[in-house]
Amino acid sequence: MSTDYGFRFDNRYARLPDALFARTDPQPVAAPRLLLWNRTLAGELGLDRVALDGDAGAALFGGNALPDGAEPLAQAYAGHQFGNPTMLGDGRAVLLGEQITPDGRRRDIQLKGAGRTPFSRGGDGRAALGPMLREYLISEAMHALGIPTTRSLAVVANGEPVFRDGPEPGAVLTRVAASHLRVGTFQYAAARRDPDLLRTLFEYTLERHYAPLKDADNPALALLEAVMERHIDLVVAWMRVGFIHGVLNTDNVTLSGETIDYGPCAFMDVYHPDTVFSSIDQRGRYAYGNQPVITQWNLARLAETLVPLIDDDPKAAVARAEALLGEFGDRYEQRWRAMMADKLGLLGEEEGDRALVDDLLDWMRRERVDYTNTFRGLIGRTLPDGEAFYQDAFLDWHRRWRDRLGRNPESDHPAEARMRAANPALIPRNHQVEAALNAAEHDDLAPTRALLDALANPYQDRPLDDPYTRPPTEEERVLRTFCGT
Ligand code: AMP
Ligand code: MG
Ligand code: MG
Repeated sequence: MSTDYGFRFDNRYARLPDALFARTDPQPVAAPRLLLWNRTLAGELGLDRVALDGDAGAALFGGNALPDGAEPLAQAYAGHQFGNPTMLGDGRAVLLGEQITPDGRRRDIQLKGAGRTPFSRGGDGRAALGPMLREYLISEAMHALGIPTTRSLAVVANGEPVFRDGPEPGAVLTRVAASHLRVGTFQYAAARRDPDLLRTLFEYTLERHYAPLKDADNPALALLEAVMERHIDLVVAWMRVGFIHGVLNTDNVTLSGETIDYGPCAFMDVYHPDTVFSSIDQRGRYAYGNQPVITQWNLARLAETLVPLIDDDPKAAVARAEALLGEFGDRYEQRWRAMMADKLGLLGEEEGDRALVDDLLDWMRRERVDYTNTFRGLIGRTLPDGEAFYQDAFLDWHRRWRDRLGRNPESDHPAEARMRAANPALIPRNHQVEAALNAAEHDDLAPTRALLDALANPYQDRPLDDPYTRPPTEEERVLRTFCGT
């Protein structure tokens, strides 16, 4: 029997110029133990779901053994952190290689928390168990919600403490991504002032994610537009489910359009556009309602790196990039409205639709009500639970909304089906995630597994007394989340 476990690597990134990475092996750990293993994802990748579910998986995904064909490396990248340019790179992550899946797709397999690399600076290269379980939970929840994201294949406890505020159990997360190319990767290449390096990275990116654009009139401008389109869709999807990324630095913005880097991210319970959870985001730069503007800002940083590829005349290149980015606002607004129309089951378009949406959001903000449950509760046109609680303002709005539904044109995809698909019944609520992680730190993974199971079907109706749909009480409310270290 073959013992290759299904790894089929074709490592094109490792063939790129040396400046883009540093070859480095994962550092072995004391006592690897496989805590979470994503069988479904393993199957999609063509990996042996059964043989890897145990010691073999622990050794490979803890970093103590290398799969056949792996060429481990840490990627170089830069990035604007809270607006300030910085040289970064994978300080605690190692790319094992690019797996070719049975259906012919290419996926990065990366170990996060795999030990020091040449880019570790002062860091220990390790990760604590809690944040790695958190990334697994939230990234898989995002995937189930239908939102582009990196995936989580495994969490391995490493049997060694990491020192943060005090000692904590350490772990390694296996992350799977369409690629780990970031706006920061382009910023790094551009900062080297080596035109060939930038062009090579650009061509690799086109080939990997946007192959048809090779034939565009202006491939660099076309790339910028395609990345912008994907990120508009991404941020609209985040807004739809109340997701707050928390650290939208340019190194955490992918060229593929996937959500990446689950650190202090969180889903909001009570609706408010200024909601911030991240302990390091003191000025609210990455607040819920700021995410569209910040995305546009991050895309402008990508545009700067592409200037020499857009036109030999820098002035002309900048003008074209600026004209394109200038469309961000209108394009975003259009798709945000369409998303909100789906949430409310509105078909066709009417003058008053925007006001209907705004008035509901205003009411939600004033009354501090739960974002997810309010929208989900509208399905079926009945009043949300606790009818008596709602005052005249809401009842008025509800009447206007039902009148508007009455004017919906006929459709094969009726209002209620749209609403079911746009309004999850279930999100990973902070207080439930924290409770599961606390249990896991005391060696009880049952709550984490149960939560993961529930989050796999977020659009299904839940039982009335379901604990997972219950918003936090005042005491349970999590106010701050911390960087995933
Ligand atoms: P992030 O805030 O997660 O985007 O990480 C920013 C940078 O810090 C990246 O270059 C990481 O690789 C690096 N980093 C984060 N934690 C550690 C650590 N424990 N050891 C070394 N580098 C780290
Ligand atoms: Mg990062
Ligand atoms: Mg991080």
